[in-house]
Amino acid sequence: MNKLIIAIQKKGRLSEKSMDLLRSAGISISNGSSKLKAVASNYPIEVLFLRDDDIPQYVENGVADLGILGQNEVLEKQKDVQHVLKLGFGKCRMSMAIPKNVTYTGEDHFENKTVATSYPNILKNYFQENKINGKIEEISGSVEIAPSIGLADAVFDIVSTGSTLTLNGLKEVRTILKSEAVLISNANLSIGKKEALDKLVFRFKSVISAKENKYILLNAPNDRLEEIISTLPGMRSPSVLPLADSNWSSVHSVIHEGQFWEIIDELRSKGAEGILVLPIEKMIL
Ligand code: ATP
Ligand code: MG
Repeated sequence: MNKLIIAIQKKGRLSEKSMDLLRSAGISISNGSSKLKAVASNYPIEVLFLRDDDIPQYVENGVADLGILGQNEVLEKQKDVQHVLKLGFGKCRMSMAIPKNVTYTGEDHFENKTVATSYPNILKNYFQENKINGKIEEISGSVEIAPSIGLADAVFDIVSTGSTLTLNGLKEVRTILKSEAVLISNANLSIGKKEALDKLVFRFKSVISAKENKYILLNAPNDRLEEIISTLPGMRSPSVLPLADSNWSSVHSVIHEGQFWEIIDELRSKGAEGILVLPIEKMIL
């Protein structure tokens, strides 16, 4: 199998989760991110530790075959790279924010206004698509102070809780895009590297699905068994095992995190008892 080179963030919000993902996929990297480069001991992969800003370029020109970084950076850098897989972590949104004492008048609010951002390309696209004639003030950090020092009327930046905006007297008025960490690849991988990538993607998917799903066991009264089974999706269908008490059965299944509480409530209302929910280590689909 051909060796792959993957670039991940050296230090920042995505570093640890990227390393965790590699580790859960069975790839062990002994020396941490203190060096620029590390080789896995048990898998043909080499890891490069870089600033996230540089990853799209390294993947475009083939110095790295793969990269893990936020979708927002991929969109901003506009490099010729392939989107492979969403990774389910590093979730955030990119929004417009204005001073809290200013009334937001809708999309046309930004007409002839100056907006400070570190993401000029994404903002330019948004302005173009919505036919807004706005001015972009590009700054590389601490975007949120721009309105208070008179540099801009608004800011366009990453938001997760909104507390940084509030601290700087701003309010979020419009979400432009949602982002999460993604796996990208070079657009011209050799056949050997593509095969290696498929194997890696298979492992990543097993890890990601496992995190998003839970294993559920419950006891069901036989007279309501069908109703209870109809509530559970399962990978194919739930497993049903007899219990020592012949009026009851044990039901095993897998449920998605997104529907978790809804399903639990429904199961309880249908007479399910002794419900146990367990984490899943890997899920092979
Ligand atoms: P680098 O030194 O590698 O350039 P950085 O300062 O650009 O790091 P980080 O702040 O570590 O980047 O964020 C990396 C990515 O994490 C962002 O591009 C974004 O996709 C994601 N992210 C998730 N939540 C947040 C958040 N609350 N604030 C900023 N980024 C977030
Ligand atoms: Mg960066």
